[in-house]
Amino acid sequence: MTGEAAVAQKAGNYAIALPPITTIEVQGSDALFPVRRIYCVGRNYAAHAVEMGHDPDREPPFFFQKNPDNILPAGEDFPYPPQSSDVHFEAELVIAIGKGGKDIPLEQALDCVFGYGVGLDMTRRDLQGEAKDLRRPWEVGKAFESSAPCGAIVPASAIGHPDAGEIRLDVNGKRRQTGDLNQMIWKTPEIISYLSGLFTLAPGDLIFSGTPSGVGAIERGDVMLVHIDGVGELEVKVV
Ligand code: MN
Repeated sequence: MTGEAAVAQKAGNYAIALPPITTIEVQGSDALFPVRRIYCVGRNYAAHAVEMGHDPDREPPFFFQKNPDNILPAGEDFPYPPQSSDVHFEAELVIAIGKGGKDIPLEQALDCVFGYGVGLDMTRRDLQGEAKDLRRPWEVGKAFESSAPCGAIVPASAIGHPDAGEIRLDVNGKRRQTGDLNQMIWKTPEIISYLSGLFTLAPGDLIFSGTPSGVGAIERGDVMLVHIDGVGELEVKVV
């Protein structure tokens, strides 16, 4: 920020109304978790990589981003997005960063975690597929309004760092996705350490850590229920 901009900010002198800060509730607290950036890990469960037509071998992780204001808080309905007729659910463990840095060593990575949440990486699969075919970026498929439902952040001080336990998703009471956090190809410390070599992580960053197999389409009226052992549940209705 230049000197002039800093002075303007101090005076609250914005040319337009200040955009709201996206926040997520913290379980067991009145405090809110402010969201800075949203990173997502692609193909982090072997069975999902296979179902998407890829080799499950341990290649370096890759990342894409959503926008902070794409968060859909717990309790709100998911509006079926425009320009797509193939919108998919992806149940994911969300890592909430409380302490940032760059080139974070593996053994210090978990110290950077504030807590964890139950999330959904909602995807316009048809638009993502077109983007892949045309070698274009993925934003149209991934970073649209309400594309990142996320439940309350549960502090690591309360639950530790879950690295095993069931992650599953039901649609209208029928099991659609089942996996275990211990199937993550890249574990939480590895994701944080690797990502911090590419970007400077900061408090408020969220990392959607990838989805197990079984992804599929939803329709208006469907109710998605995600459960992650030790973290919690998130129910979202499609409207
Ligand atoms: Mn995903």
